[in-house]
Amino acid sequence: MRTANLPQTSDREAPGTPHLAYFGGEPAFAVPRHVGAPNLGDRAVLMRRIEGLLDRRWLTNRGPLVEEFEQRLAERVGVRHVVVTCNATTALEIAVRALDLRGEVIVPSFTFVATAHALQWQRITPVFCDIEPGGYTLDPERVEALITPRTTGIIGVHLFGRTARVAELQRVADRRGLQLLFDAAHAFGCTRDGRSVGGFGRCEIFSFHATKFLNAFEGGAVATDDDDLAERVRLMQNFGFAGEDRVIHVGVNGKMTEVSAAMGLTSLEAEAGIVAVNRIHYDAYRRELRGVPGLSLMRYDERERNNYQYVVVEVDRDEAGLSRDQLVALLRAENVLARRYFHPGCHRMEPYRSLFPHAGLLLPRTEHVTDRVLALPTGGGVEPADVARIGGLMRGMVAHAAEIRDRWPHAVRRGEVT
Ligand SMILES: *Cc1c(COP(=O)(O)O)cnc(C)c1O
Repeated sequence: MRTANLPQTSDREAPGTPHLAYFGGEPAFAVPRHVGAPNLGDRAVLMRRIEGLLDRRWLTNRGPLVEEFEQRLAERVGVRHVVVTCNATTALEIAVRALDLRGEVIVPSFTFVATAHALQWQRITPVFCDIEPGGYTLDPERVEALITPRTTGIIGVHLFGRTARVAELQRVADRRGLQLLFDAAHAFGCTRDGRSVGGFGRCEIFSFHATKFLNAFEGGAVATDDDDLAERVRLMQNFGFAGEDRVIHVGVNGKMTEVSAAMGLTSLEAEAGIVAVNRIHYDAYRRELRGVPGLSLMRYDERERNNYQYVVVEVDRDEAGLSRDQLVALLRAENVLARRYFHPGCHRMEPYRSLFPHAGLLLPRTEHVTDRVLALPTGGGVEPADVARIGGLMRGMVAHAAEIRDRWPHAVRRGEVT
């Protein structure tokens, strides 16, 4: 872990606009800094596992590494069952089908588009619900208002690892006879009221995509305490096979390979180190951006366990003097590849945009937030000195906002500005 060279926030002088890469200066970073650069565990351990699976010639179809990964995940999360899959989108699709959802399912629009696609792909209508005031997750009151006779379920999302209001959502689901599940793609290792994510609702879905907190190159999982549901998910994930040539259910191929499980296990063993690095970067960003007008860093609830995987900033255009999109363009020119997570909201993407052209009328908080958020590079692909540098750049940009706006038409490099 790199704590020794923790940079000070003392280099608080703001570089003037002449040096900004957007206006022709040298980029601050020669090599791009990415959001979601993969967190890697112990390479030697990974290689040993890969040698082992090659020696066994057991590459997929529920090999020993998949079995071990599922067992270790279930222990870590504290649930009876974890079924690992090829990715989280497939896990969501299988879970939705295993719970026999149909008709309409209520989901946030402020999420990665896979949450909605997992429904639409199965001809189930995603009904987009607004987020709670001052938060990034489903507003239980708005959920209740959207329930119709066709509604069969609710999918909450623990966006950026900050958990949805699970108890209130569970009460709505129980009162109205709906299934509740969670897209926990961002929330492995997080708690709500001290309870691990993974055990809420009927089931929860994790992602082990390369960009996520833990990775299996690609991968996902369904976590549940429900024995019957776990059995259905297991069958559906493997063509409905209950034995060598006995098929008892319709199914798909959602299996995780052994090499993915090798990476997943190695990643799981590295969890504490990954959180520690994320935490150091998060705290550094907090120091760097403290007091900068118009920039507010997303906070985590310090009473809970968090994975600190996302460093999210909301940009208030009036106070900062620059829009979120301008700031992103300026940063990208410096090779700081900030991302507009999750712009523009699912309801403003196809096919939902054409299917529900007026959805935005019921999503004012979602539209407000999706036009203001950006995510900054963190994790193992970033050094503490990089965070200090990025913080310094952002302070400089805001300090010189008026000058930058004047020079905007003379930009040399153009980012994705709207
Ligand atoms: C990444 C992500 C998914 C999809 O995960 P994959 O493993 O890439 O299929 C689903 N929901 C959310 C919120 C995500 O961020």
